[in-house]
Amino acid sequence: MAPAAVARPAVRPDLVALEGYHSPQVDVAVRLNTNESPIPPPAAWRDALAAELSRIEWHRYPDRAATELRAAIAGLHGVDPAQVLAANGSNEVIQSLCLAYGGAGRTAAVFEPTYRLHSHIASITGTAVAVGLRAPDLSLDLDEVRRVLRQAEPALTFLCSPNNPTGMVDPPEAVREVAELAPGVVVVDEAYGQFADRSALELVDEDRPVVVTRTYSKTWSMAGARLGYLVGPSWLVAELEKVVLPYHLDAAKQVAGRLALRFEAEMRERVAGLVAERERLVAGLGRLPVEQWPSGANFVLFRPTGGDGHAVWEGLLERSVLVRDCSSWPGLEGCLRVTVGTPAEDDAFLAALAEVLGS
Ligand code: PMP
Repeated sequence: MAPAAVARPAVRPDLVALEGYHSPQVDVAVRLNTNESPIPPPAAWRDALAAELSRIEWHRYPDRAATELRAAIAGLHGVDPAQVLAANGSNEVIQSLCLAYGGAGRTAAVFEPTYRLHSHIASITGTAVAVGLRAPDLSLDLDEVRRVLRQAEPALTFLCSPNNPTGMVDPPEAVREVAELAPGVVVVDEAYGQFADRSALELVDEDRPVVVTRTYSKTWSMAGARLGYLVGPSWLVAELEKVVLPYHLDAAKQVAGRLALRFEAEMRERVAGLVAERERLVAGLGRLPVEQWPSGANFVLFRPTGGDGHAVWEGLLERSVLVRDCSSWPGLEGCLRVTVGTPAEDDAFLAALAEVLGS
């Protein structure tokens, strides 16, 4: 006789309606959907890493405070190591912020369309989400920001500059104003920071609850490492250290991240190359029947005119080109987002798009 089915335990009620975060990983020839770097890190970094990995004491726990990694990141930004929190991708940094400053009875503010994991991670941590909207041209609308901050009094306010998926960079005056108006912690997500010509890092000091998050996944070409960090006031970092799990950063990752910073000049060179390639991609899109938004990142948001964005996404996929389908996201009807790839990948994308659009 088959055993009687066991009743499945109920999940937390606030998770019932929550959908997982999906970004399809499809096997295609041209993958331009997750804003990775198309160029690997330098071979010299690989060699240095291999040498240091061979000396790791694998039977010991890693340095819990990630002392050397934090010192290296602090050195890069000219801040104190106590002002740096490193974590498994900037997503874990965001999760730590939500765990420490969000949670039951507290609210996080986001301005859509923006990086969806801000509201998703807030929800997972039991933080309520107050959604404000960007202006019709997708820029940050300060009147709307004031309204949301007044009504929701958020414990956390998320900005994203360059903003994913629009690519737009928030003007420094606007970021400064939000920092002055917000009642709680202001998080400026700069995952694409080095692609832009301005940063909120200059706003970080010991007196203001402003933090800037960065990642190794994009400009440092290390998405495989899962490493990100935050720069903020040391007293705030100390609170975040209470919510991260002990030894959350493994020994190999700490070494990989520390060594990567020795190759800053190479990173800047890669970024400059990708910015130039982005302008070529933008020019190519400009010759096709699409609307596009100004990008300060390594991706471009565009909307095929008069067409069905999802059908265009499918048409590209049939041609083995994968881009991000944002066509059903609120405020982005019909839009797709393409990551800047190698010149060959971008040419393949432009050719496939021209074919799909029949131009
Ligand atoms: N912030 C933004 C705006 C992003 O686009 C991403 C990655 N897509 C992240 C954070 C997360 O990056 P990480 O790989 O460091 O978790």
